[in-house]
Amino acid sequence: MNKKEQIHDVIIIGGGIAAYTAALYTARANLKPIILCGVEPDQLSLTTLVENWPGFEDGILGPELIENSKKQAEKFGAKCIQEAAESFSIEKKYFEIKTSENSFKTKTLIIATGASARKLNIPGENKYFGRGVSTCAVCDAALYRNKDAIVIGGGDSAMEESLALYKFAKKVTIIHRRNKFRASKIMQDRIFKLKDKIDIIWDSEVIEVLGNGKSVTGVKIKNLKTNKISEIKTDGIFLAIGHIPNTKIFQGKIKLDNHGYLLTDKLSGTNIPGIYAAGDVQDPVFKQAITSAGTGCQAALQAEKYLEKLKAEGKY
Ligand code: NAP
Repeated sequence: MNKKEQIHDVIIIGGGIAAYTAALYTARANLKPIILCGVEPDQLSLTTLVENWPGFEDGILGPELIENSKKQAEKFGAKCIQEAAESFSIEKKYFEIKTSENSFKTKTLIIATGASARKLNIPGENKYFGRGVSTCAVCDAALYRNKDAIVIGGGDSAMEESLALYKFAKKVTIIHRRNKFRASKIMQDRIFKLKDKIDIIWDSEVIEVLGNGKSVTGVKIKNLKTNKISEIKTDGIFLAIGHIPNTKIFQGKIKLDNHGYLLTDKLSGTNIPGIYAAGDVQDPVFKQAITSAGTGCQAALQAEKYLEKLKAEGKY
């Protein structure tokens, strides 16, 4: 059989902890999983210390956790291909995934494509993206030494981004659309203690990114209680307003919920037999590294079971 005709047992799409956990389990089941580990970095690779991954008393760095998990899966025979899935189709006896360079056929598919940073869709945001507008303070914080930065959002990510910036910036201003954060108490407490350099503007929305043509110079904000519009000077704007599940190529082919997350049953199955989903792409609630890994494991065990069933029924 030539390479193009080969039908794999398992293909996993994704490059995060859900994908590598699924890869580890399917590799140990001798299913020789192929991981299409994409081109965009996963969320743990963009973070610093993960303090809530069990077994590491002093925490573990996110990128280290991902790199170790990848190597662990590869040790058992998983193969990581650095390509992104661009289209997907359901054929009679297999599923087909195409990247810009290759086409892959598989009996089972585990989707662990995660979620991407949400944007505000306001004037100036795209124009200055990468020139002062960012979605990753952990990556860019050092560029803001002795400069001013704004963080938008009220969740754990916003707290984490602000803490990362605090180490370098002259001043950090958090702008939140309500008068209460949704972040965990421990993260909020850390922020509230840093009054020397962290300001908070409540009940306000950023409505425009301002710049000088080359880089960001400020933002226009609207107070949602008074409707008053004002301008604040800043050098950088960090968006920490949540994520959007990466399910574009599955639209109309696999059932999604109203927000675009893949719908799964308790056993990580989608509505298509043989297709499973794990991690943030199917989780609008927990979105934790550990729950992602857990669903990666579930998806892998279910894919293995499905292949056994196909074989038992003579349909393999
Ligand atoms: P999130 O919890 O969904 O919070 C998003 C924040 O952005 C909310 O405060 C929301 O406001 C705000 N927001 C959403 N859309 C907005 C818009 N269009 N304009 C202005 N504000 C907007 O997202 P997250 O902070 O990325 O966290 C996601 C998950 O990852 C959570 O489960 C979190 O616990 C976890 N996480 C954990 C850690 C950690 O433990 N170290 C770090 C990062 C993330 P409202 O509050 O008004 O809805």
